[in-house]
Amino acid sequence: MAFDFDLFVIGGGSGGVRAARVAAQGGARVALAEQDRYGGTCVLRGCVPKKLMVFASEFSGLMRDAVGYGWQVDAGQFDWPRFRARLHAELDRLEAVYRDLLAARGVSLYDSRARLVDAHTVELADGTRHSASTILIATGGRPSVADAPGAALGITSDDVFHLDALPARLLIVGGGYIACEFACIFRGMGVEVTQYYRGAQVLRGFDDEVRGLVAEEMRQSGIDLHTGTQVLTMERGEQGIEVKASNGTLRSFDQVLLAVGRTPNSSDMGLEEAGVKLDRRGAITVDAYSQTTVPSVYAVGDVTNRVNLTPVAIREGMAFVATVFGGCPTAPDHALIPTAIFTQPEVGTVGLSEEEARGRGAIEVYCNSFRPMRSAFLGRHARVLMKLVVCADTRTVLGCHIVAPGAGEMIQLAGIAVKMGATKEDFDRTMAVHPTMAEELVTMHEPVRRA
Ligand code: NDP
Repeated sequence: MAFDFDLFVIGGGSGGVRAARVAAQGGARVALAEQDRYGGTCVLRGCVPKKLMVFASEFSGLMRDAVGYGWQVDAGQFDWPRFRARLHAELDRLEAVYRDLLAARGVSLYDSRARLVDAHTVELADGTRHSASTILIATGGRPSVADAPGAALGITSDDVFHLDALPARLLIVGGGYIACEFACIFRGMGVEVTQYYRGAQVLRGFDDEVRGLVAEEMRQSGIDLHTGTQVLTMERGEQGIEVKASNGTLRSFDQVLLAVGRTPNSSDMGLEEAGVKLDRRGAITVDAYSQTTVPSVYAVGDVTNRVNLTPVAIREGMAFVATVFGGCPTAPDHALIPTAIFTQPEVGTVGLSEEEARGRGAIEVYCNSFRPMRSAFLGRHARVLMKLVVCADTRTVLGCHIVAPGAGEMIQLAGIAVKMGATKEDFDRTMAVHPTMAEELVTMHEPVRRA
């Protein structure tokens, strides 16, 4: 049977765009449908605008530091509308780059929502249908909102980049990546930030010492962080949004940011009707090669809810192309993924946390938390953390955890060593780069604990 296309991709985010581009480059006839703008969460509502906001927010601290280092600085005020205009101009530029990349490879672009009709057919919003030998679902995810009463008064991370003005008093609900990153960003921009997290410590799933230090540094920077605290009610009142919380307080805020997790974009797409299985959270069920329960339909990225990170979606997209169009079955490798949390200070982490490693055999823990030269000079008490979790038998470094300015950059490089299976002794025989914070990773000779 002749199909209109070899590949039809639904979703123009990181995973979908990469798969479409690489498949087309290899000679496949490819189409892609996107209902919104090209670039997806990462470029339009996530990593990229978030990181630009991190840069913007860091200047308040840098200017304070500059004074400590002898500069005469007149810091002035942060001009949010001016920054926001530049931010959106940059996002427009990036979207055009994505669109042009696809067009240059001959990908047929449909600016439309698309749904699955059957194993080989896609229907666009105007009713037109296209057939394809293979269909790739790469529709990503969206913020989920808590079911707390009055949650409709809150905003999500999607809305942050479009605020008309910075709120004077902001409440952030949640304790994950997004909640902690935005707490630091808005604090740096001068906002009075309160954060409510229902658990005992933020950043569940990460190494406990990392979580502890990040929480401490967030509080030091002026974020009013309350753990073990749930929102009970939210109502619009005279003073703003009035929030009653489980810690017994009733406080007013100008804005409430709900950062309580994300949901796969899989509803209302004809997936289950066509035989594509979803799990109970709505994520598309896939095998190691990203193939769904319908053999001609594959899925990559956040809609599969495996590891929800941009580089992972891109790798999954490329592995899919190698498998289906390259004659080389390739399962994306989800082991030892380095990742960063752009709090201030940043977290960089790869491999097992101490708590995870403890359950898997004897370990040694090498850890140092210290005041870095740059801020110690200013008389600050800010601390950084360098930590290695080592297998006592094989000496392999199982986990590397860093809390420090620039930790994201550091962990990318340490991640190579850990991925290669480096031992503690490999770290030790690497010469220190002096004076740096990261040199601590190769100069910690005595374990602080054995477990
Ligand atoms: P996370 O799953 O990381 O965090 C969700 C947070 O909300 C948790 O603290 C969770 O608490 C809390 N929560 C969940 N439900 C409720 C509820 N009903 N009431 C109150 N609190 C609730 O999600 P995020 O939205 O922060 O991030 C989503 C994903 O996006 C991340 O997992 C990550 O993969 C990706 N991401 C990556 C970034 C990066 O690489 N730097 C940056 C931003 C996002 P609990 O811990 O108790 O479950």
